[in-house]
Amino acid sequence: MPIVTGFEGEFYKGQIFHSKQAAQVAIKHHALQHNFQYGVVESSPSIWKVRCLKHKDDNCPWMVRFGCRDVVSEWTVRKAKFVHSCSSMTQPTDHVILMSTLYLSP
Ligand SMILES: [Zn+2]
Repeated sequence: MPIVTGFEGEFYKGQIFHSKQAAQVAIKHHALQHNFQYGVVESSPSIWKVRCLKHKDDNCPWMVRFGCRDVVSEWTVRKAKFVHSCSSMTQPTDHVILMSTLYLSP
């Protein structure tokens, strides 16, 4: 059961989210679906950037950078690399617990 209506769990450049929270939820959902963990590397009123947690260990290039326009609160995917070179995708993690938390929360 998708938690974000109309969001398929994939990102593309230029994709628009109507709040930072929507972008955050979408990333979280995407990471759960694809079984990897990410970390926030940049967070400001106009920028939100996340990176695969394996960036340092495995030099994994996966990242998404959102930018916010001042006037309207629209968060757009400005820069992104959607490919993993890490082993995150195949390693079992505690995503099951995370997932039940996510889906059970109101
Ligand atoms: Zn990765």
